[in-house]
Amino acid sequence: LGPRQVRGALFSWVRPETQKDPELLAVSPAAMRDLGLAQSEADAEEFRETIVGNRIYGWDPETLSGPGYPWAQCYGGFQFGDWAGQLGDGRAISLFESTNPRTGVRYEVQLKGAGITPYSRFADGKAVLRSSIREFVVSEHLHALGIPTTRALAISLLPHSRVRRERIEPGAVVVRFAQSWLRFGNFDLLRARGDRDLIRRLATYVAEDVLGGWENLPGRLEDPDDPSKTPTPQRGIPKDDIQGPDGAEENRFTRLYREIVRRNALTVAKWQAYGFMNGVLNTDNTSILGLSMDYGPFAFMDNFDPTYTPNHDDHLLRYSYRNQPTIIWWNLVRLGEALGELLGAGRSVDDTTFTTSGVTEATAPPLIALAEKLITQAGTEYKTVFLHEYTRLMTSRLGLQTAQPTDFDTLLTPLLDALETHALDFNHFFRRLSSLPRSAFATPSSTRAAAARFLHNDTPPDSQEADAALTALTAWLTTWHGRIASDWDASAEAERIAAMKASNPNFVPRGWVLDEVIRRVEKGGERDVLKRVLHMALHPFEDSWAGRDFDGVQYEGDREEEERW
Ligand code: AMP
Ligand code: MG
Ligand code: MG
Repeated sequence: LGPRQVRGALFSWVRPETQKDPELLAVSPAAMRDLGLAQSEADAEEFRETIVGNRIYGWDPETLSGPGYPWAQCYGGFQFGDWAGQLGDGRAISLFESTNPRTGVRYEVQLKGAGITPYSRFADGKAVLRSSIREFVVSEHLHALGIPTTRALAISLLPHSRVRRERIEPGAVVVRFAQSWLRFGNFDLLRARGDRDLIRRLATYVAEDVLGGWENLPGRLEDPDDPSKTPTPQRGIPKDDIQGPDGAEENRFTRLYREIVRRNALTVAKWQAYGFMNGVLNTDNTSILGLSMDYGPFAFMDNFDPTYTPNHDDHLLRYSYRNQPTIIWWNLVRLGEALGELLGAGRSVDDTTFTTSGVTEATAPPLIALAEKLITQAGTEYKTVFLHEYTRLMTSRLGLQTAQPTDFDTLLTPLLDALETHALDFNHFFRRLSSLPRSAFATPSSTRAAAARFLHNDTPPDSQEADAALTALTAWLTTWHGRIASDWDASAEAERIAAMKASNPNFVPRGWVLDEVIRRVEKGGERDVLKRVLHMALHPFEDSWAGRDFDGVQYEGDREEEERW
């Protein structure tokens, strides 16, 4: 009995399993707000039953009718570079769409771990408590950092469940939401099957329904190499195709592709700036909206190491920190190929040419060449958008108000090299730098003393090497201080510190923090610890938890190598 192949469709209707005695462990207040729900609504029986799949919102079991019914998506994907065929939502079931009346934003609300679907293949459709806590806390944290992500509303424990993994573990259901759960893999699968009609319909759905209309897509690309000319979405651009550079036609599907490229470039720039690693950036885990999605073996960078991958099976370091921008681009090229014939087909070509009837022999070759050219051009735009956003964020993390062309070579690169060489904690360094006062730079020896504290040297350097490291970091701090002094008035010290603290999180839910929380919830039966860590994850920039630990869980500092996660 092989996995069921679902052809000519993008989803299947699915009924979640019924769960006995679910226990609501935690709710994200930020998520309640964004969905337009009052906090008190989480107390309702109806809420608790809906978020585990026991109650199907909008479906009347008496009459077997209603406006909606749960569904699971059909998609494929390239996993570790190889085509994996049909995958689909094996343990995710979407419940309904919900529009926040205040913001007008529509979300698709979905359960994870609520039972098998036609896409479960040989797996059980369940999620364990451990990975559910990780997703719940960290997707909300990324949102709080300003990184686009799928969201988590609540987590429920299934007290009678026993899920077989490496060991037997308790199961859980996370209810999550996103403006769209579509990923590149939806297009990949249709491409593999040659289903051109559905590719066109899906792309049209993304533009018109998910992104709100063709007129919201980015305008003509003037010059992909010049960031100052990088176009922002311009409302009111006609639905018609427009002429791009070199006479290449940027039709509306090209603009859709460019929008997806740009969104993903922005997100991966934010991952790099905050040291987030997804760990499994297969095309089925890469969002059409550029959302961080599919929380598996992800991690935040601890001690700065660009070759680090949190995925223990990733022996080739394909999904390591430094590869993320390249891999997202690799995935975007697969998407460009799937859209292939839709790209660059200008208004001179009749739309109907590209339905299932296919491209004619005569028109195919030049169109493919044109698609290739447009994808390459989008690659330049990807780099530009990525670099622009990464520079913007790192400039802000360094406390600078202006970005100087020399900052990369004189500040950022030497700093990252130093963090790597001395195995210093990436996020912690920036937070500590934030509150370094001007007085630390009063004399060369006070600057050297500050550098020593960053290196955790309480005693004078005991070797030539240690002395050189200290001298180098002292020089770096002096350069940094020079830039700060040119960007800020001497009287604006408090503002500078506040600005830096608003860019540099005081709390990041690292692997070891989550491990400790999971252990306490799972083995110790504790509940409050999860709510507290969620609260900190949702308010990462606050000073209030100034100590080195919360509840006995150490949450900052430079970890010894063997403790790294
Ligand atoms: P991932 O590595 O999380 O992207 O998952 C790859 C594929 O395996 C997706 O189609 C998932 O839905 C599916 N999958 C992963 N775990 C399970 C599970 N426990 N039950 C059913 N399907 C699963
Ligand atoms: Mg996945
Ligand atoms: Mg997964």
